[in-house]
Amino acid sequence: MIDDYKHKGMRKKLVKIIQSKGIVDPGVLDAIGKIPRHFFFDEIFVEHAYQDKAFPIGEGQTISQPFTVAFQTQLLEIKQGDKVLEIGTGSGYQASVLVELGAEVYTIEYQKKLHDKVKKFLPKVFGYKPNFFYGDGSKGLAEHAPYDKILVTAGAPTVPSDLIKQLKIGGSLVIPVGNNKVQKMVRIQKASEKQLIKKEFSNFSFVPLLGDKGWKK
Ligand code: SAM
Repeated sequence: MIDDYKHKGMRKKLVKIIQSKGIVDPGVLDAIGKIPRHFFFDEIFVEHAYQDKAFPIGEGQTISQPFTVAFQTQLLEIKQGDKVLEIGTGSGYQASVLVELGAEVYTIEYQKKLHDKVKKFLPKVFGYKPNFFYGDGSKGLAEHAPYDKILVTAGAPTVPSDLIKQLKIGGSLVIPVGNNKVQKMVRIQKASEKQLIKKEFSNFSFVPLLGDKGWKK
């Protein structure tokens, strides 16, 4: 796989596009500008890699739109060394952005084929080594909790209470909540064991969060 001046040029344009849509976090912009998104695509689809859109990755799933990845990451205000749980590894692109930001990443995927593929692909191609898990992330990942940040990259019917439990005090959860066509982006900050600060943002459209605390298959 090559990353030449043409890809770099397309990436620069993509960064400008997401900036024009309101992304200001310099770390997030740098990560999107650095990671060769076309490496996550079959060679014949390279042209699609630097358009600001989601794209199929097999198993009925998608690599999220770059703006969506940037928006969710910006809401989390990732700091170097943050312990972050991502629910929905998918292509591994979002996990790569988190690794670039210096987070200690735990990522869980429900589709075995995607999990198996990405677990090999990310360390081999990029040298990124998040902690990969296979299973139902709608219940979080209790064995490694608590987390500074939790990021859900599939649309949930409600906010699973396990995810709030697995957040550190002072931590944040970002999750799209709604029906299986459209969801509102929600950020919940855990100010104390009893106080949650909830803020809603604009509408997005994610594939459904399946599983015990998500949508039934
Ligand atoms: N973060 C991904 C990326 O960068 O490519 C986006 C992935 S896609 C929009 C959402 C992913 O969530 C899919 O791969 C899907 O299989 C996964 N998913 C859905 N329900 C899940 C669950 N209960 N636990 C873990 N992953 C789940």
